Amino acid sequence: MRSISLKISADDGLVVVIPHRYAIRDAEQALIKHSKWAIKKLDHFDVWDGPRHVPELVNGAKLLLYGNELTVLVRSLPEDRKRSRVFLEDESLIVELGPDADLNPRPLVEKWYRKIAKELLVERVEELGGAIGLLPKKIIVGQRTSRWGSCSSRGTLSFCYRLIMAPPEVIDYVVAHELCHLQHLNHSKRFYKLLDQVYPEHEIHSKWLKENGHGLVI
Ligand SMILES: [Zn+2]
Repeated sequence: MRSISLKISADDGLVVVIPHRYAIRDAEQALIKHSKWAIKKLDHFDVWDGPRHVPELVNGAKLLLYGNELTVLVRSLPEDRKRSRVFLEDESLIVELGPDADLNPRPLVEKWYRKIAKELLVERVEELGGAIGLLPKKIIVGQRTSRWGSCSSRGTLSFCYRLIMAPPEVIDYVVAHELCHLQHLNHSKRFYKLLDQVYPEHEIHSKWLKENGHGLVI
């Protein structure tokens, strides 16, 4: 039988799921019991500015790509095609749904963004990293990370795929920031000295991301 569960995500914050047979009192107890865990977990999500507003992906919905607004056009798949698909056409993101597709276009759109993000971020890391002689061992473009970018002690750079919704110079700022962590895995003075050299305008883009990051949603 299902028991009370606590979930923490960057999108919803802390969610307590209570099956019918439990009382609210039980949920409170579960919360108290796991409060240390919850506080620790919630701390990880300090990058996001509260719960995100998720736009409805209907015809005419607006989505960002490289800081530009795209209009989502949802239509049914032409008869000569078999599989649902997503593609760009001018300023529109066309979503063509096949007859047996789930009518929710979101999973397809997310998949398309992840693919584009991976391509672009790998390219930016290679170009910016190549220029300064700092390249990661591995690049991960994740579906849900709590941060726009991170660097591990093993030399892996991870990025949130929704970063590609931001303007190109903001994307480059995050890439440059994480590349500098390959040299200094902290936010010390030396780290910022290096970042100043690699990407002098970083402060303005960091500010942009803090103020607008919550709008980079699919
Ligand atoms: Zn950092």
